[in-house]
Amino acid sequence: MVEFPWDRSPHDLLDLTQAIEFHLGRRAGAERNAPRVIDLDILYLGELTERGGILDLPHPRLTSRRFVLQPLTDIRPELVLPGDTATIAEHLAHFDGDEPELSLVQGSW
Ligand code: AMP
Repeated sequence: MVEFPWDRSPHDLLDLTQAIEFHLGRRAGAERNAPRVIDLDILYLGELTERGGILDLPHPRLTSRRFVLQPLTDIRPELVLPGDTATIAEHLAHFDGDEPELSLVQGSW
């Protein structure tokens, strides 16, 4: 998980993450949720909210995945996502813990 400043458009960021995925060997056309070489997701972009277009921001499944909440809490425990009231650390604390801590689960991420 990385956090970095970004002053260009959200779609430029998606282009960048997709170029990195391609560079690392990912090719288009695989079924959704099929195993893949690399999967880069954009979790949030400042205060931006977008739904239903090319990008969903913040990522709609961010707060329901422990394997995302855990490393994000390590770097941004006090972050409150746009449209939310709880911090990332609070989301993690409320998580029931049924899911493994690391992203070893396959599923609808
Ligand atoms: P995936 O197969 O999970 O890599 O899905 C990639 C597609 O999901 C991209 O082409 C985007 O159009 C779409 N998408 C929607 N929201 C996001 C997001 N927050 N981060 C990355 N991809 C997203």
